[in-house]
Amino acid sequence: MIHDVVIAGAGPVGLFLACELRLAGLSVLVLEQTEDPRSPLKRLPFGMRGLSAPTIEAFYRRGMLNDIAAPPRAKDAPGVGGAPAGAHWMQQARRPGGHFAGIQFYQDNIDPSKWPYRLPSPAGTNMPVELEYLESVLAARATAMGVEIRRGLGVDDFKQSDEEVSIQAGAETFRGRWLVGCDGGRSTVRKAGGFEFAGTDPEFTGYSVEVGMADPEKLRPGRHYTATGMYTYQQPGTIAMVDFDGGAFHRTQSITLEHVQAVLRRVSCTDVTVTALPLATTWTDRAHQATAYRKGRVLLAGDAAHIHSPLGGQGLNLGLGDAMNLGWKLAATIRGDAPAGLLDSYLGERHPEGARVLDWSRAQVGLMRPSRSSRALEAIIRDLIDTRDGATYFAERVWGVSLRYDLGGSHPLVGRSAPDFELLDGTRLGALLGKGRGLLLDFDVRAPLQTLASRWNDRITYVASDARDRLGLSGVLVRPDGFVAWAGEATPDLEEAAQAASRWFGEPGVV
Ligand SMILES: Cc1cc2nc3c(=O)[nH]c(=O)nc-3n(C[C@H](O)[C@H](O)[C@H](O)COP(=O)(O)OP(=O)(O)OC[C@H]3O[C@@H](n4cnc5c(N)ncnc54)[C@H](O)[C@@H]3O)c2cc1C
Repeated sequence: MIHDVVIAGAGPVGLFLACELRLAGLSVLVLEQTEDPRSPLKRLPFGMRGLSAPTIEAFYRRGMLNDIAAPPRAKDAPGVGGAPAGAHWMQQARRPGGHFAGIQFYQDNIDPSKWPYRLPSPAGTNMPVELEYLESVLAARATAMGVEIRRGLGVDDFKQSDEEVSIQAGAETFRGRWLVGCDGGRSTVRKAGGFEFAGTDPEFTGYSVEVGMADPEKLRPGRHYTATGMYTYQQPGTIAMVDFDGGAFHRTQSITLEHVQAVLRRVSCTDVTVTALPLATTWTDRAHQATAYRKGRVLLAGDAAHIHSPLGGQGLNLGLGDAMNLGWKLAATIRGDAPAGLLDSYLGERHPEGARVLDWSRAQVGLMRPSRSSRALEAIIRDLIDTRDGATYFAERVWGVSLRYDLGGSHPLVGRSAPDFELLDGTRLGALLGKGRGLLLDFDVRAPLQTLASRWNDRITYVASDARDRLGLSGVLVRPDGFVAWAGEATPDLEEAAQAASRWFGEPGVV
């Protein structure tokens, strides 16, 4: 049997991509090397992940947001959570919106009037979620949609021909028309495929540890820069710390209690005593990105395509954005109705976005170094981030609100995530994207736009209705991933609309 797509890795990116491909009617097999999807590192506190606007919108548009934002269940239940309660910022008088290298910006400073194309929507700009819970929701959705998930089967190698990819996983061989490597930062698919992985080497080893301490009062709760590093302490015993050792310790030695105590003493400048180490992991600020995301019938997405320090808290969002961008393009390619260059636009749109995120994480490392110049820079950023313009700028970047693909087009909305227009009957744009098709919203109910849409009626849903706030537009063409392909002013340029439809949906009436 041959599958349309085989995905290596049932992490969040692989699972979400599987859902996207299945939505388009493809047969999908996911191969996951671990038997058990659960891990203490995917649960609170270390498993906390911040979702940004494009990710929340993607889940909203596919009808998954309510499941993902479900309230936490009993504390010890497997897969606890959606949004974790009791986060430390809830104790603060001002509500933080996020941070840059640990320097917080505050919600009350953010000026949303700078974002004229964001309409009120159930999809907010940021949301915490527990990774294990997120994966469980995505796996359940994928399975319900008919995705086959095989656990305990890691991809070891593959061979590709012009027609298909033969995938070796343990003693078994699988066949796919396409293979997508969503197998994380140490991706076998990336290595076996000979993808170049270019970037910068680490400056530090980061530690996330749960500890017992004889004298915890020696540490101050919160995040602290010291003369030797940085640590964050959350009572009773959750610590993240950064040791500027050039990344030498990471994955080269076992993480012992003695070592953690020595590093903690060094970076906290205290003589605190660690008595227990129930959980520990390390990471670095290595920032690398594949120079190509596709070789023949093999593609990369998520951490397989790019890695960076987790401190920026953006890797998951970047990877899920890859999946949302790739899914419909690969589906159209397999169906045979993709316009020329559609699949290549995956690299064209997502590689610059990945590079931007890697640089964002590098900038934070620059600010964290234990040096006089970094502390001086920190003081300046602290001043700037506490201004209205500063907080708005950082919110745009951290929440992903500034994301815009370079799709050409004459209107400033083209390339941006579509506003969540509310039609007169109360239907929202988000709800109209649930099937993963293109969408032409015609606010003026004009015959020419209907005629235009009818030429792609197998790929584009046409909806004619005025909206409560149409932002001065007469119509808007939205790609399946929710990004605007064309926006018409009061007098729409129909020629431009037809060009945008051809560019993203191929020749009319082919299927
Ligand atoms: C401490 C920490 C905090 C973070 N906080 C945030 C945050 O707040 N916001 C954010 O956006 N990101 C955050 N990140 C980053 C985020 O967790 C990752 O970017 C994200 O999990 C990547 O998803 P993925 O599916 O691409 O890869 P992974 O989650 O790594 O999943 C890859 C899957 O592939 C499997 N696999 C590996 N090799 C093979 C193989 N050969 N064959 C088959 N399967 C294989 C693995 O077992 C795994 O299940 C954080 C990361 C860390 C470490």
